[in-house]
Amino acid sequence: MAKVTVEKDKCIGCGACTATCPEVFDFDDDGLAKVIKDEVNDDVKMAAEGCPTEAIEIEENN
Ligand code: SF4
Repeated sequence: MAKVTVEKDKCIGCGACTATCPEVFDFDDDGLAKVIKDEVNDDVKMAAEGCPTEAIEIEENN
């Protein structure tokens, strides 16, 4: 099982994650990123690594 979260306190709404992985990240009404699908794949990992503020957290409990 995995869980993806965006820490809104850290997100600056740069759009990198929504560009890298639009099937999992989208903008919320407040202009910050939100998770629309709880799935962890390579694109999600790339988005987490590419986030400039490290706002994306991936929990993997196997
Ligand atoms: S890459 Fe990070 S800072 Fe940019 S929109 Fe996504 S979560 Fe927010």
